[in-house]
Amino acid sequence: MANGKINVAVENIFPLIKKFLYSDHEIFLRELISNATDAISKLKHLSSIGELKGNIGKPGIEVKLDKEKKKIHILDQGVGMTADEVNKYINEVAFSGAEEFLEKYKEEAKDSGIIGHFGLGFYSSFMVAEKVEIITKSYLNDSAAHWTCDGSPEYKLKKSSKKERGTEIILHVSEDSTEFLEESRIRELLNKYNKFMPYPIKFGTKEETIPLPKNAKKDAKPKTKTVDNIINTTNPAWTKTPTDLKDEDYKSFYRELYPMQFEEPLFNIHLNVDYPFNLTGILYFPKIQNDLNIQKDRIQLYQNQVFVTDNVEGIVPEFLTMLRGVIDSPDIPLNVSRSYLQADGAVKKISNYITRKVADKLNSLFKKDRKIFEEKWNDIKVVIEYGLLTEEKFYEKANNFMLYPTTEGEYLTYDELNAAVKDNQTDKDGKLIFLYASDIEEQHSYIETAKDKGYKVLLLDSPIIAHLIQKLEGDKEKIAFSRVDGDAIENLIKKEEATVSKMSDDEKDALKPLIEAVVPGDKYTIQMEAMDSCNLPFVITQPEFMRRMKEMQQTGGGMMGGFPEMFTLIVNTNHELVGQILNTKTTKKRERLIQQSLDLARLSQNLLKGEALTTFIKRSVELIK
Ligand code: ADP
Ligand code: MG
Repeated sequence: MANGKINVAVENIFPLIKKFLYSDHEIFLRELISNATDAISKLKHLSSIGELKGNIGKPGIEVKLDKEKKKIHILDQGVGMTADEVNKYINEVAFSGAEEFLEKYKEEAKDSGIIGHFGLGFYSSFMVAEKVEIITKSYLNDSAAHWTCDGSPEYKLKKSSKKERGTEIILHVSEDSTEFLEESRIRELLNKYNKFMPYPIKFGTKEETIPLPKNAKKDAKPKTKTVDNIINTTNPAWTKTPTDLKDEDYKSFYRELYPMQFEEPLFNIHLNVDYPFNLTGILYFPKIQNDLNIQKDRIQLYQNQVFVTDNVEGIVPEFLTMLRGVIDSPDIPLNVSRSYLQADGAVKKISNYITRKVADKLNSLFKKDRKIFEEKWNDIKVVIEYGLLTEEKFYEKANNFMLYPTTEGEYLTYDELNAAVKDNQTDKDGKLIFLYASDIEEQHSYIETAKDKGYKVLLLDSPIIAHLIQKLEGDKEKIAFSRVDGDAIENLIKKEEATVSKMSDDEKDALKPLIEAVVPGDKYTIQMEAMDSCNLPFVITQPEFMRRMKEMQQTGGGMMGGFPEMFTLIVNTNHELVGQILNTKTTKKRERLIQQSLDLARLSQNLLKGEALTTFIKRSVELIK
């Protein structure tokens, strides 16, 4: 038996770091600017606690390109490093000076916004550079140091004549990374990762027009001057206190986030917690179309104002990924895989917090101004319905503000709906039946029939509605949803007296086989019914259960496949035309009447297509000739 220590040689690890540390080479710039930012944060912190005397000015960061010499320079006016510190922080791979700083200043530096963590970020520069130089002068009165390394584990460290406090990193860009010498590419990266970082980042210059003085001559031309081009907004809206922001500030921040988006957001939710985790951010409700898929990946995730990703899967609950905006939290562990993330306790808390905040906001909007909430309902309902389906916590809260629109333009809460139908819409078991339509145009005749009978008809037209009502029926007691063209409407107990049948049982028995001879039995179940308020001889309905299962299949989930198309054909024995069918002696004529009545019923259910439709039209012309 022997115990020992595996000897990991740096020579072997170095190339691995270069190759596999980050899959995305472009993040080198984000890492170096993060280090520059940390250096300034440290400087400010030391100054604020009096460990550094004198005026520190307005420290900033600059990125410069030297395309000819194939170099990128990143300069900052932060704390800098002494030669000893270079040895410690740079030469010891995976030693994080950021963590050491936080450890040393613990409590007081907790909110200083230090980004660094693992002590590896700096080495990402070797993904794009064949040689890297650091020229740095510490705020401590030490002489400046100059470190050079060509990507092998050997480095050179000598003195430098740099006079000003701060650090300059020089990347000698390698042959396969020359894309990063393009101004447009660097601008793109700065815009993506550093747009909201806390200290000004300069990249080149720009021309700015000087406004003319009030007393300027009429033909005076405004002059321009060359100014620093600062690429970032150093204090974005989400870092401010909600009470300091007006509605217009939220809107203009939205425009800053999505410059190509012309539609205004419907409302926003400001997130702000510091215990038990740290999280700030602003979420926006955009207008959401009835499509669940195309609109994701719009929420941006930041850590201490550094952009990390726009894939918030696992962090934000699925139903809220349709929203837009920003979330900033240093507490989200991003170095782990996404599937692990979902199991992480801290992340689960964050996700629950966001869900609760969104529910609370919706509730307060509803309470504050119901009319406006109703006006926005169609643009937000998909998110809410999806939330009800997928997040139990949201479901519990949403009962207060989930609305059920009617075909008459009312918007009812669940309790209001219940009260509105409880006297009139029960079946023989005492179950409340909520009638609904999914399309006003297509189901027009059914809606009218139901309304004539005094029933309330809801308008539920979201793509996932079948799933949702399935869930509601399972949860709430003694209710059932039924589409107006479904079967349940016939089971409703009407308060008025039962319809008197104009046809005797014998007549009905004689009629049934006549109809069966024409109507295909594998598709339709025939049912006799006396209806006075219906002006059609035949009516087609589809069992609610079958249709709903089919819909659920189409939108994912659902149960086994292949539900047959089955319909119920209701023959209105009180209709004049049905009486006529019974009394027509000529087979051909009678069959034509039955066929015509069937086709009319199919037409009103949008089931008449192709050849059947052509035949129907021809027959109709014959009949009116
Ligand atoms: P991390 O940022 O996670 O600590 P890095 O590899 O990015 O790890 O950097 C290592 C250390 O080098 C930093 O913690 C910091 O102490 C030092 N450092 C890097 N860049 C700078 C800089 N621009 N100014 C001052 N110190 C720096
Ligand atoms: Mg770093």
